[in-house]
Amino acid sequence: MNHNGLAHPIFQLVSKESKSLGFKTYVVGGYVRDLQLNRKSKDVDFVTVGSGIQLAQAVQKRLKNASLSIFKNFGTAQIKTDDWEFEFVGARKESYDRKSRKPKIEDGTFEDDIHRRDFTVNTLAISLQKDDFGKLIDTFNGLTDLKNKIIRTPLDPVITFKDDPLRMMRAVRFASQLDFKIESTTHKALKSEAKSLSIVSQERITDELNKIILSQKPSIGFKHLFDTKLLHQFFPEMVKLQGVEIRDGKGHKDNFYHTLQVLDQICERTNNLWVRWAAILHDIAKPPTKRFVKEEGWTFHGHEDKGSRMVKPIFSKLKLPLGAPMVKVRTLVQLHLRPIALTKENITDSAIRRLIFDAGEHLEDLMILCKSDITTKNKIKEQRFQKNLINVEQNIALVEERDRIRNWQPPIKGDEIMNLFGIKPGKEIGIIKSALKDAILDGIIPNNYNDAFKFVIEQGKKLGLQLHE
Ligand code: ATP
Ligand code: MG
Repeated sequence: MNHNGLAHPIFQLVSKESKSLGFKTYVVGGYVRDLQLNRKSKDVDFVTVGSGIQLAQAVQKRLKNASLSIFKNFGTAQIKTDDWEFEFVGARKESYDRKSRKPKIEDGTFEDDIHRRDFTVNTLAISLQKDDFGKLIDTFNGLTDLKNKIIRTPLDPVITFKDDPLRMMRAVRFASQLDFKIESTTHKALKSEAKSLSIVSQERITDELNKIILSQKPSIGFKHLFDTKLLHQFFPEMVKLQGVEIRDGKGHKDNFYHTLQVLDQICERTNNLWVRWAAILHDIAKPPTKRFVKEEGWTFHGHEDKGSRMVKPIFSKLKLPLGAPMVKVRTLVQLHLRPIALTKENITDSAIRRLIFDAGEHLEDLMILCKSDITTKNKIKEQRFQKNLINVEQNIALVEERDRIRNWQPPIKGDEIMNLFGIKPGKEIGIIKSALKDAILDGIIPNNYNDAFKFVIEQGKKLGLQLHE
């Protein structure tokens, strides 16, 4: 066992303080697993056969610049120092009773604690006792599974998943994060127990889902979620993307696998969770807008509008944040076809100006989404499409430099229009505001207050409004 991962002085300190307290302490879980995989991590879990809180207090006293938080209800403590986080907990035994969802938790031995863990690769531990400091303890052949890249529960997977159904999401999450296979008995149990995910809170499910989305190749996770029907439990809109219908010999692409390809491709361009979410949702309204038109074949007219309207309800159901992240995803879904439309010939500056205005701060992310939305297998076509989008970017840059349209606001706001005509919020305000915006973006009137003022008065008159005295 090399001691590379135990170089931080805290490991020796924990060893010493444990000895004084008469406790035996081990490093467990993700840190040990990631050490073997050469994945750098600064989250460490200690299990001690004794009081985790007492041990953490003793260790913190000997460290400079370390903060201690104690969570009495959970019997855990956390030390933060530099950018490291160390969790301390006493070894515990969990017993599940079919009648109640919560396990009975009591103090246990080191072995009890290892037996309650979810996957063999997460059962590895490192001893911190003076006489065998750094020794790897591998109770369930976790090392072999690590080498063979396998996710497997240490005990019967059906019972493991019944006891805590969140573990099913964790199985898929680790498979996606680590690019591991799920062992076949464990995989079967995912299928047979998928329905019990319904007792898990949406917040915890979504935490795992976001970790899948943040992995290097999220399609691995989503394919498992789909095949095991876990996805069906909480995200039916995405399930509906799957499948191909053929009529009069004409088919359409499978939008589920297309979406996954777009998602994998966007992951090579951005680590931003919300831009990745936009890839997941960009075609979400293809199933409800699908029509078969005799001459054209399959069409999905308006899927970007309907899709953008589906974003908020989906975010709300999945307990994703409804502020700026939701607005970003909704904007990207709404606009995802626009840059492609600008690759046609004879595009006017005003069309480009409009896109810059509508996308605002999301313009770069929109271009990332569009580039990732190219999934043709024909290499020559692919290169041509990518080049077209680069041209669009260059045209955008030219127009932006000249007009500085981003973050632009029309010179007269809704409030002022209401005061001008003495009217309350309503349809008229919307009509006047959008006419004003169009007139300026299309270059019909100059972008200044006086011309805008005159224009607004004319528009009001057309609608039969009187100036307010
Ligand atoms: P990471 O922190 O990289 O997400 P991790 O394996 O450290 O991965 P944590 O959620 O931090 O995952 O949990 C730490 C350890 O606790 C796990 O390695 C596992 O041994 C155990 N564990 C966590 N959640 C569960 C669970 N629901 N059921 C059983 N054991 C669990
Ligand atoms: Mg962890």
